[in-house]
Amino acid sequence: MMVSCIGLGGMGFVSKNNKRDKPSTIINTALNEGINFIDTARSYYDSERIIGEAIHGRRKDCFIATKTYLRGANEVKREVEISLKNLRAEQIDLYQVHHVQYEHELERVLARDGALVGLKRAKKRGKIKFIGVSSHHPKVAVKCIKTGEFDTIQIPFSPIEREFIDEILKEAKKYDVGVIAMKPLAGGRILNAELALKFVLSYDISIVIPGCSTLKQVKIDTHIGKGGIFLNENEKKSLFEEVEKLDGNFCRRCRYCENVCTIKLPIADIFRCEDHILYNVTYARNEYKKFKKEVKKCTDCGKCEQMCPYNLPIRTMLKNAHRRLTKGKIEDAIINILRRLNLYEKVRNIYFDLGFPIPKRWENNSEFSNKEDV
Ligand code: SF4
Ligand code: SF4
Repeated sequence: MMVSCIGLGGMGFVSKNNKRDKPSTIINTALNEGINFIDTARSYYDSERIIGEAIHGRRKDCFIATKTYLRGANEVKREVEISLKNLRAEQIDLYQVHHVQYEHELERVLARDGALVGLKRAKKRGKIKFIGVSSHHPKVAVKCIKTGEFDTIQIPFSPIEREFIDEILKEAKKYDVGVIAMKPLAGGRILNAELALKFVLSYDISIVIPGCSTLKQVKIDTHIGKGGIFLNENEKKSLFEEVEKLDGNFCRRCRYCENVCTIKLPIADIFRCEDHILYNVTYARNEYKKFKKEVKKCTDCGKCEQMCPYNLPIRTMLKNAHRRLTKGKIEDAIINILRRLNLYEKVRNIYFDLGFPIPKRWENNSEFSNKEDV
């Protein structure tokens, strides 16, 4: 299956996200320019439906990937039917098991009544073509690949989040598994999109799928995709100077901290919810609801911080994440107003140039991330 080296991440193609270029315009422009891969998920609100409407009449021009959080065979069967209806398609090119984070989850997926069985049945009936899996946990991702059951693996990969990438790529090659790199701009936190995408593409991946919310971004994507992808020494230096500034509060989801946490807090997942604020505040806050009570049980023992290989101030970060995901609506609104007045970049750059640590709440990439829905 031939796909473009840059695809469209579909998390932001939702009806509420109506403050930038229309998703249908973005998708059709991208298809006209040669981008033929669109990734979405059952959990991204009405993204499947929006994409289905946009590609109506030109289904043959694109490769559609979606995914489900559900883990049972029968549940997955229903999910496939819903996706087909939403996407107005007779067949989906790639159906992925979404966000497999723990070994026990993978075992559930592989069980006799698990998601994989459901997807294999759907494949047999011609409803889907390929079966994939996504994971934010590098070691679990390697385990998924080694099962030999999946055609693709979707993993976060960016200049700041690249642990185990060599091992993942080595195993993917060995098992002939396609590698889909998501979050190439670290969830919108890396501002130099062009250099970050070139960096990711310089590795032996199959495709990279940045989020896309304006036509300008489509142009940048196609410019990079059609041009040279190699970074010269100066470009590398400038990219990593930016990345270093983000280092102090970026969780790489290694989960070493979780192993020692007495209350078994899913710390990496909480930080992941926080990252989603950049794309869709409603989604981020809904996702966080399942962790909210647990976070309050934190004893402040600090064991997690002793284990973090990146010396992250986890306790402070958890408090900030909790505040952002439960309160802070006024601050979010102010940032949104700044964006609408085109003042956001100016204010942010002044901070950045003065060398101040940039508040996480401010971090957004006006080029590549989607508008917050506050
Ligand atoms: S400080 Fe909180 S999150 Fe960290 S190990 Fe202790 S209980 Fe867990
Ligand atoms: S907080 Fe540190 S130890 Fe915990 S998952 Fe993130 S990077 Fe790993």
